[in-house]
Amino acid sequence: MSEAYKIIDHTYDAVVVGAGGSGLRATMGIAEAGLKTACITKVFPTRSHTVAAQGGIAASLGNMGPDHWTWHMYDTVKGSDWLGDQDAIEYLCREAPQAVYELEHAGVPFSRTEAGKIYQRPFGGMMQNMGEGPPAQRTCAAADRTGHAMLHALYQQSLKYDADFFIEYFALDLIMENGRCRGVIALCMEDGSIHRFRAHSVVLATGGYGRVYQSATSAHTCTGDGNAMVLRAGLPLQDMEFVQFHPTGIYGAGVLITEGARGEGGYLTNSEGERFMERYAPSAKDLASRDVVSRSMAMEIREGRGVGMEGDHIFLHLDHIDPKVLAERLPGITETGKIFAGVDLTRQPLPVVPTVHYNMGGIPTNYHGEVVHIRDGNPDAVVPGLYAVGEAACVSVHGANRLGSNSLIDLVVFGRATGLRIKETLKPGTPHDTLPSDSAEMAIGRLDHFRNAKGATPTAQLRGEMQKTMQRHAAVFRTDELMAEGVSKMDAIYAGMQDVNVTDRSLIWNTDLVETLELDNLMGQALVTIRSALNRKESRGAHMHEDFPDRHDDEWMKHTVASFDGWGGNGGATTIAYRPVHDYTLTDDIEYIKPKKRVY
Ligand SMILES: Cc1cc2nc3c(=O)[nH]c(=O)nc-3n(C[C@H](O)[C@H](O)[C@H](O)COP(=O)(O)OP(=O)(O)OC[C@H]3O[C@@H](n4cnc5c(N)ncnc54)[C@H](O)[C@@H]3O)c2cc1C
Repeated sequence: MSEAYKIIDHTYDAVVVGAGGSGLRATMGIAEAGLKTACITKVFPTRSHTVAAQGGIAASLGNMGPDHWTWHMYDTVKGSDWLGDQDAIEYLCREAPQAVYELEHAGVPFSRTEAGKIYQRPFGGMMQNMGEGPPAQRTCAAADRTGHAMLHALYQQSLKYDADFFIEYFALDLIMENGRCRGVIALCMEDGSIHRFRAHSVVLATGGYGRVYQSATSAHTCTGDGNAMVLRAGLPLQDMEFVQFHPTGIYGAGVLITEGARGEGGYLTNSEGERFMERYAPSAKDLASRDVVSRSMAMEIREGRGVGMEGDHIFLHLDHIDPKVLAERLPGITETGKIFAGVDLTRQPLPVVPTVHYNMGGIPTNYHGEVVHIRDGNPDAVVPGLYAVGEAACVSVHGANRLGSNSLIDLVVFGRATGLRIKETLKPGTPHDTLPSDSAEMAIGRLDHFRNAKGATPTAQLRGEMQKTMQRHAAVFRTDELMAEGVSKMDAIYAGMQDVNVTDRSLIWNTDLVETLELDNLMGQALVTIRSALNRKESRGAHMHEDFPDRHDDEWMKHTVASFDGWGGNGGATTIAYRPVHDYTLTDDIEYIKPKKRVY
């Protein structure tokens, strides 16, 4: 190591990494239990990606028509293409209404019906009567700024609890000892000091890793740092091959137009002006689930019926909807259309294209938020001291494909569940063992390595190569040949990390260094994603393998668990194993929903 780094020590009962919807909800629950709690976040809490969520949050309130949690459960299982764990899905859908009322009481300004109830809109794949239809109005919304409203309310609430916030601190690595998580090491970005947090429980709430791809709706900060910390701790990530493409990202800019736009009556057309979704999904049409709509759009483009000069995108029509409704229900996207597509959507169609939006895969957990892995033949063995929630986690409630509006509800339901579990299992003030003497070595070694990296390739160049490769070789349609080529390209790009160049050597707001650490985090996840995809010889949900176009439940109804050994361009071997899907529910109130062909 080229110099000694100053380490500042902290001791807490629990530490939460991340202050998006899931991290804040977990922090509140843990602090409320009287446990000494810290929340570490690399961006100011209200700048977390949750703030960008538009369309809404799913719960079977039944405010706008008949609904029931078992219908929500059925749709979620079907949406997951039977890769979701049904015990966890039951927990999610049962708890959802209460979680929404809790948000209402916390001050979320939901849109209202005439009668003053929470407004709910239709969303893709959300149906009545155990999938029989018609569409259910299940998605609770605050206009098209639901995430914004939610995150602000949660942050305001969390300030009333006695939790310490470490804002603009970048978590580097977990402290692990004999398979137990003992804490986390973070860099204070403002002054470069290193902070060692000793804790009985660490909750990773670090969000998704959309930035592995070139065109994504997620923020530039969505680099899956928690996922990468888990890989470096020698633990696996689950179902990483399942990457959701949202049907309606604005062509070119990648900015999201919420599914709520189709929920309010919007529809897609091809170059012939045809409403082609009627052919692909005769009953749900434009409100089929996201993987189905994205694939149909890609198929239209591939067969020469795309719109525009290059025939490479699709039109989304909202111009038939009453401008008053647009102004009231979709004010944000009306603005977005103007700024990012130069389109007045009350008169013209919007140019859209499927864009990376959500990671179904992540850190495997049970429905208490406890991280699990395979140990001594037990596929559900808990990693002591380690929890994960939100998009970083794979509970798995979304399986192979997440339904729109099911993430925001996942954040609050499992954020709360994690708080409850920690409250149950940890007594405030439980004494701490001393940490191993090398507890900060890996984190500081890696930081110091990149800070002094004197290679020839700028970080941005390597990032661009990775993003282009993943966009081309691990997108909506996949073949063995395309993915194998992608794996060898990604291996070479990863090795290129040994030649990365960081120009800023300082420790004060060194964004060059932080971006490089993030890129290194993205690299491991990119490799695990494309290798897990190449290994899965079937098509399920978002993973459309053209050489194996059908779902094969006998062989493939199982979760991929992939680990990765390496960082900084060294090592890089991926080991893939499989865990069984939970084919049981939580209670006798509902039976296991048996696999069926998935048609919308
Ligand atoms: C544009 C857009 C619209 C969406 N709309 C909807 C919708 O309408 N309905 C729906 O259900 N879902 C929607 N989603 C999905 C949903 O919003 C996200 O999955 C969810 O908000 C993720 O929340 P989170 O708590 O897991 O993480 P995030 O909100 O992404 O927050 C991550 C947190 O982790 C912290 N962090 C990360 N790395 C580090 C590190 N190294 N050190 C310290 N802190 C770190 C960050 O500072 C941040 O606080 C949308 C997503 C996008 C991108």
